[in-house]
Amino acid sequence: MSAAREPRRGDALARKLQKLGLRSRMDFVLHLPLRYEDETALVAPADAPAGKPVLVEAKLQRAEIAYRPRRQLVVHAEGLVLRFFNFYGSQLRQFQRGVEEGLLVRAYGEVRGGWFGAEMAHPRYRLVRAGEPLPSTLTPVYSTTAGVSQAAIRARVLEALDEGALADSLPAWLRARYHLAGFAESVSALHRPAPGVDLSALAERTHPAWRRMKFDELLAQQLSMRFAYRERRSRSAPPLPSRGPLVGRFLARLPFRLTSAQTRALDEVLADLATPHPMQRLLQGDVGSGKTIVAALACLTAVDARWQAALMAPTEILSEQHYRKFRQWLEAAVPGEVRVAWLHGGLAKAEKKSVLEDIRSGAAQVVIGTHALVQEGVDFARLGLAIVDEQHRFGVEQRVTLRRKGTHRAAGLPQPVVPHQLMMSATPIPRTLSMTYYADLDVSTLDELPPGRKPVATRLVSASRRAEVLERIREACAEGQQAYWVCPVVEESREGAQTAIDTHAKLAAELRGIGVGLLHGRLAQAEKAATMKAFAAGEIQLLVCTTVIEVGVDVPNASLMVIESAERFGLAQLHQLRGRVGRGARESVCILLFEQALSSAGRERLRVMYENSDGFEIARLDLKLRGPGEYLGERQSGAPLLRFADLERDAELVDAARAAAAELLESEPQAAARHAARWLASRAELLSA
Ligand code: ADP
Ligand code: MG
Repeated sequence: MSAAREPRRGDALARKLQKLGLRSRMDFVLHLPLRYEDETALVAPADAPAGKPVLVEAKLQRAEIAYRPRRQLVVHAEGLVLRFFNFYGSQLRQFQRGVEEGLLVRAYGEVRGGWFGAEMAHPRYRLVRAGEPLPSTLTPVYSTTAGVSQAAIRARVLEALDEGALADSLPAWLRARYHLAGFAESVSALHRPAPGVDLSALAERTHPAWRRMKFDELLAQQLSMRFAYRERRSRSAPPLPSRGPLVGRFLARLPFRLTSAQTRALDEVLADLATPHPMQRLLQGDVGSGKTIVAALACLTAVDARWQAALMAPTEILSEQHYRKFRQWLEAAVPGEVRVAWLHGGLAKAEKKSVLEDIRSGAAQVVIGTHALVQEGVDFARLGLAIVDEQHRFGVEQRVTLRRKGTHRAAGLPQPVVPHQLMMSATPIPRTLSMTYYADLDVSTLDELPPGRKPVATRLVSASRRAEVLERIREACAEGQQAYWVCPVVEESREGAQTAIDTHAKLAAELRGIGVGLLHGRLAQAEKAATMKAFAAGEIQLLVCTTVIEVGVDVPNASLMVIESAERFGLAQLHQLRGRVGRGARESVCILLFEQALSSAGRERLRVMYENSDGFEIARLDLKLRGPGEYLGERQSGAPLLRFADLERDAELVDAARAAAAELLESEPQAAARHAARWLASRAELLSA
């Protein structure tokens, strides 16, 4: 190996390490071991327990290449044989020199009984002189990548650890308050655990050193959220004063009384809107909890202040339903005073042009639509409030674009004015998630359903009992009720549409005398709208559909839902679907039809649906069954990664980190900044890798 090639090999290693996200000293320090090997004590080869790796040592006797049963390097030592099936010629010479020099082989691995006594295959080994001291700490094993040996990565990590004292980013009072071990002490305990340490506490990550790592990580995340929050508070938004004339009249003529949860959420929204800083609020509430009316009141608050409001929904059906409901409410309460525009795919060219013109001129005071709202060519005169319904169905990009449509420069203000934003979600975000990934949002929760709702009874029924289910539908329709039949298919796909069409034909033939309608994603907009209208009006009694009806659809007279092959749906989806019934005064039933060959995951989901009706509980169980990806959706890509902490298991630490973030920012902002920098810089590199 020539000296000139040295640095290039170093570069290649550095590049590979970078792939693992390892650049700075702190990256290496925080590259924590996956597990440990115990090389602190020797075991005599003859006494080695079966199936457990141990460290043995024996004096070398001879080394040779054998050819049977296959080519191998065989090393004989006192009471021990080592076998290597893949080896270099240099290894043979190394062992032969060891024999000449009277060295011992020290090997780590599993010992098995063989022809000649104790044997090891492919152990990790070193040649040593008699009496060479043993390591005094456990040997860490790190995650690594192709081309970086365990020895190389271990050397680099331990080198980083020894580079000098590691400052503790947390002040002593904070460590004391939250019972935290010191930082240097913790990383050292993790990289070099002393013999006799509680190995299961290390493996389970319950050891105090692990607790400190997780706390630090969660704290950094909380701090970064608070920094983002603060940044938002420094931006400007149009202040929209509460209780203007339209809102007052609207509230006075409301067809129902707001629930106390709605009143509370509305007050929170109104308080935000009244400030000159952009609201960024998530209104979360289970399906049917009544988020739409809160959105409508927020829109009217904007209109009262002479600003426009936009409401974006994920499907045309939902946007149309919002449009109709807004019109209906407004016509009853403040007739002729508010222009609501509906931007949808079914508009003829000339109509669309005129809607766009109304949006541009400001004549349209409330604008409702799908993601069509964020398309080019949609320009608002004065957008003061942007609402995103079923926000988890949109990407970050779309939400940001909608907000940007209302961003403008105002005279005398150094920064652009941005609209207020209200996001709504019926897929409840579990508390731990909303406190971490969503901590830059303010959250209002509707934890109460409007009065008079009857819980939906859920029945699990094998597909072999389909005839009974049909009978049930006949009875319900005879009593003037309506029903949904949900097909287990991708709503937008051709095959999905075909399955829905076939199911519709079959059911229409089986259920003579009952009006059976069909709804799927591939129908023309006008056709979808006509079908929904007919269903809402009771002209269709059974609606065969795909998951197009999953979000938001509100037909209170529908009291029976059948979901075919329910085991194929996700929990969030099943909960959303089931939320389509139970909206009227009548006792509602949701029948989950399942196929006999149930996977264990499918069975588990059905059980959760059968046993739970609370969306928050279902979401929590879903998170447990599947991990957070589903909830984070697109947001995940930009969200801080958690490497060490687990939101479910470490919920107690999430709470602690949240409280600590507030205290630290309050009393020692520089320390907070230092702490965040230590953890976030290292993470940023991980993400860019
Ligand atoms: P979601 O939160 O799922 O979007 P919606 O806003 O669609 O729920 O409301 C569900 C139904 O409840 C609608 O028909 C709505 O008009 C009705 N509703 C909302 N609030 C109340 C209330 N306080 N009292 C009675 N009915 C209400
Ligand atoms: Mg809704």
